[in-house]
Amino acid sequence: MKNIIIAIDGPAGSGKSSSARVVAETLKYIYIDTGAMYRAVTLAWMREGTELTEENVYKVLDKLKVGLKQSSSGQRTFVNEEDVSDDIRLPEVTRLVSPVSAMELVRTKMVEQQREMGANGGIVMDGRDIGTIVFPQAELKVFLIASIEARAERRGLELRNKGFEVDIENLKTEISERDRYDSSREISPLRKAADALEIDTSNLTIQEQTQIIINLAKQIIES
Ligand code: C5P
Repeated sequence: MKNIIIAIDGPAGSGKSSSARVVAETLKYIYIDTGAMYRAVTLAWMREGTELTEENVYKVLDKLKVGLKQSSSGQRTFVNEEDVSDDIRLPEVTRLVSPVSAMELVRTKMVEQQREMGANGGIVMDGRDIGTIVFPQAELKVFLIASIEARAERRGLELRNKGFEVDIENLKTEISERDRYDSSREISPLRKAADALEIDTSNLTIQEQTQIIINLAKQIIES
């Protein structure tokens, strides 16, 4: 059995994390949510209470260790050994993660770590630049898209389940702004790799979108 690399990219709320997790579980692969790593850097900088400048973020980055561990409830994210899995999902972090993740040294450090984690294959990695920059040699590349309405509804449900009040129109604006920022940055912008398969998940259940990816992966693994 081949241990392949599966890259799942796409904009916020397109269903990457939910499907990547199930695909990894089914194939007994390791799931790596790279967005969590950029969120961890953002949280660490926010806790310093300094202004958003490259200099301030790099100061934090220098002494920062981002760790990922697999647990029965999914991936847990650590900053210098502290479990920050819940804090990195706070709306303030979501609001500031795009400018932080656009910074050159932040990307260099995270991409290096991601490449190490995936070096032996047997992984499903989701993000924005996995198929284009982190693993351009990935055996399977999927680019998920969905309508802004579907994406805002999904994010809204996630936030409501965590007890936050949700305004769908605000969420649509926030998601569109984050997409715009992520797609237009200079380094590793969000973009579909030329050899990625695009799947519109607007009207698909998690089970349906997952099954498409698992079938594609099995064809490659068993070939
Ligand atoms: O996937 P998630 O929405 O948690 O990602 C949060 C942010 O992290 C994205 O909006 C993007 O700015 C950044 N990101 C990135 N490259 C990745 C994964 C996430 O720039 N590979």
